[in-house]
Amino acid sequence: MKRRVAWLGAALLAVSSLVVMLKPAYAATGCRVTYAVTNQWTGGFGASVTVVNLGDALNGWRLTFSFPVAGQSVTQGWNATWTQSGQGVTASNASWNAALGTNGSTSLGFNGAWTSSNPVPATFQLNGTTCTGSVAPTTGPTTTPTTTPTTAPTTAPTTAPTTPPTTQPTTQPTGEPWSPPSNLVSPLAQVWSHQESTYNNGNLYAFRNYGWDQLFANNGSINYCVRWDSSARVTAAQRDSIHAALQKQYQKWMDAMLDNGQGWNNWPYKQVPVKVVGWAVRDRAQLEWTDTSVDIYVNNIRENAPQCSEPCGRFFNQSGNYPNCPGGVARHYDHSLWLTDGFGGGAGGDWGQRMGREYFMGAVNSENIHIFLHELGHTYGLDDFYDWDPTPGQGFIMKAGSASQITEFDKWMFRDWWRHLKSRYGR
Ligand SMILES: [Zn+2]
Repeated sequence: MKRRVAWLGAALLAVSSLVVMLKPAYAATGCRVTYAVTNQWTGGFGASVTVVNLGDALNGWRLTFSFPVAGQSVTQGWNATWTQSGQGVTASNASWNAALGTNGSTSLGFNGAWTSSNPVPATFQLNGTTCTGSVAPTTGPTTTPTTTPTTAPTTAPTTAPTTPPTTQPTTQPTGEPWSPPSNLVSPLAQVWSHQESTYNNGNLYAFRNYGWDQLFANNGSINYCVRWDSSARVTAAQRDSIHAALQKQYQKWMDAMLDNGQGWNNWPYKQVPVKVVGWAVRDRAQLEWTDTSVDIYVNNIRENAPQCSEPCGRFFNQSGNYPNCPGGVARHYDHSLWLTDGFGGGAGGDWGQRMGREYFMGAVNSENIHIFLHELGHTYGLDDFYDWDPTPGQGFIMKAGSASQITEFDKWMFRDWWRHLKSRYGR
C-alpha cells in the first residue's frame, strides 16, 4: 500500500538576505527569520516561522515575504493575522505578541497549499526592513550636513555568506553499546548516514521536536488529541477502544527499547502511559457521551479538518509551555491522531499520525495496526524507503507495505536514534 508521508526531515532553514539595506534611521533595526517546512504531503504543507527582533523594541510588527512560485498559498495560520495577495504574504501581530523586545522572538505558523513545487521564500521583511540576521548600522543624530551629498548611496548587493554547513560527526558515539545482529550493522550505518545527510538541510541534530524530545519533555508519557475528520458518530465504547489501541500500539515501539524488561543503553521508560486528553469534531452531537473525561473542541476547522486547540498542542508550543491552554499543561497534547474519512495510506511527523478513519476503526482491536506503527515511526524520526532498500528482500515496518509489525531491523533503527540523541536528555 502506498503511503503519503509527511516527514521531510522538517527542513529548518536559516534564511539570510542577500541585500544589505542602508537605511537612515535613528532606531536600530534588524531581524532574523527561520522558516521551516515542518511537514508536507501532496498539495499541502505545514510551516513554522520564527521571528527574532534584533533591533530596538517594537510594539506592533508586520512580517512580509513572497512565495517563490505560483500555487503556493497560506490556507490557515496561527499566532498572527495572515493575508495573501498574489504571491505576497503578510503576517500581522496578534494582540498578545505585538510587543517584541530587543532579541525577543515569536513563533508563528501556517498550513499551506502548493501545486508544482514548494520552495522556501528567499527573504523576509519585518516592518519593511529586510531581515539580514544582523542589525543595520544605527545612524545617530548628527549635525546637519551643510552640503548635500550629490550621489545617493546605492544599495550594494553583497552576497551574504551562507551558513557554513556544520559537519556533524558520523562516527559512532563513543562508549556506547552497539550490538545489533552483525548482518544489520552495515544497513543500519547506511540508514543513519542517509538520515543525517537528508534531514533538516543536513542538520538532523538541530531539529528538536522529534517524538524523543516530546516524550522526555513530558517525563515519559504522551498525550493525544483525536482529530475526528469524519461525519460518523462515536460511541463511548469506540472512544475507549481508540484510547486502548493507542496505548497498546505505542508500547510496541517503546518495547523495542527493552531487553528482558530492562532499558537498553540507559533507556529510562519501561512503560509509557498514553492518554487521550481531547477530541476535535465538527459537531458535538457526533460524540455520544456526556462525561467530561476528555476536552472537546467543536468546529475549529484547520486544513479542512477539526483541530484541537492550538494553544494546547506541542507542535504549536515547542517550548513545552502552554500558557493559553484552557485546561493547562495537564490537558496539552503531544501528538494528534488524525482520522479522515476515505483517506488512503497515512502520514506521520512530529505533529502526529494521520490515516483513514475506516482503516483505523476497522483495525482498532488488531494486534498490529501497521499503518499506525509506520507513521508513529516517522514521529520518532524514522525514514521512508521508497527509493532505496538497505536490506534487500527483507520486509520491515518502515518500508511501506512490506511488513505488518515492527521487525528486528526496525527495532535497531529506532535504537540508533536513541543512541545518537540520548545525550540531549542527560542519558
Ligand atoms: Zn512513511
